[in-house]
Amino acid sequence: MTAAASFCDLTLDELAASLAAPAGEDAPEPGRAVRSPSAAHVFGALHRVARWSTDDRGHRAPILGRAAAAAVAARLDLRLPQIVEAEPSSDGATKLLLALADGARVEAVHMPRAVRNPRVTLCISSQVGCAMGCTFCRTAQMGLVRNLDAAEIVGQVFAVVLALGPVDPQRISIVFMGMGEPLHNLDAVLRAVRILCEPAGMGLSPQRITVSTSGLVAGIEALARAEVRPALALSVNATTDEARARIMPVTRRNSLAALRSALLAFPLRSHEKITLEYVLLAGENDGDDDAARLAAFAAGMRHNINVIPWNPFTDGGFARPDDARTMAFVARLRDAGCLVTVRKSRGRDVAGACGQLATDTVRVRRSAPAGPR
Ligand code: SAH
Ligand code: SF4
Repeated sequence: MTAAASFCDLTLDELAASLAAPAGEDAPEPGRAVRSPSAAHVFGALHRVARWSTDDRGHRAPILGRAAAAAVAARLDLRLPQIVEAEPSSDGATKLLLALADGARVEAVHMPRAVRNPRVTLCISSQVGCAMGCTFCRTAQMGLVRNLDAAEIVGQVFAVVLALGPVDPQRISIVFMGMGEPLHNLDAVLRAVRILCEPAGMGLSPQRITVSTSGLVAGIEALARAEVRPALALSVNATTDEARARIMPVTRRNSLAALRSALLAFPLRSHEKITLEYVLLAGENDGDDDAARLAAFAAGMRHNINVIPWNPFTDGGFARPDDARTMAFVARLRDAGCLVTVRKSRGRDVAGACGQLATDTVRVRRSAPAGPR
């Protein structure tokens, strides 16, 4: 007898295998599983939030027929990460603190975009803390506490969408820009992406899921080979290896030249671009020569440079550039032929913006997982 799996952790094939096996037993070998129509039906009932009902006490649960409900109850755990705090920001974003089953806490940010057919971007965490040690990022100060598993990543999406919507998955985009380095936990991230993109379930498009990395070359190469491949963003943040290594230690093993080669080799779908994030630190990386080198880095790749004026936090040690400096930097890039957007960091007044995320989880250092380095 094995412990009930989280419904968030199973692909459609695995759910089919689990339903085909007697309750409480291990599922048969994946190759022997027969995908029954009822598995797709059960997967849809579980993963389409619009089909969930709310009882008198506000408790939400999927609507299942009697037989399916019994099969699910015997095999699957329907619990989700608990939202323990929700802090709405004046700009419409909401920072959410989620408690996982072992008490660890991660943050997610819900960011509605005010357009005619409103879309929502969910900023999701891939790890509790982060091992990468970027000097400008608050999450780095936690160190790596642990990886999230796929169920916890998918569970974050469910918990946030059930609380704040939207129920229509067509209106959801996901960015792995919360806590953690997603390519340091690539297997779990790709498994979560696969489950979220399953057409019988939430059916998100992998093109509307973006994985942001501090720059692990081997991880970028592995991502390029993924069967269900999300979009890629690289946090460039400095334009010489020396300057970058000072603020992003990951540069010591992953040079800008090697990163650029990995990006140039990354297979893009039509209309797809690579996002190049650039956290602007006043007096540190915002010079005209930086703009010129950043433009040279981007040359020859379909890109969108996303300039992010640094979001301060206590003892952050850097300065946020003023709007005039930011726009001068952007103008230089545009003059050099780059496509540039400036990120309006959402949730700044509730410390929910990029790089301001950290939780008070007791720091229990475990040996770093064998992720790409
Ligand atoms: N670990 C991944 C994704 C999470 S960080 C990565 O580094 O890409 C998401 C983005 O926030 C990255 O581009 C990172 O450079 C940026 N960031 C980190 N700290 C920041 C801060 N204090 N202000 C603005 N952006 C920050
Ligand atoms: Fe980790 Fe990204 Fe923060 Fe660097 S910027 S410490 S990689 S979360």
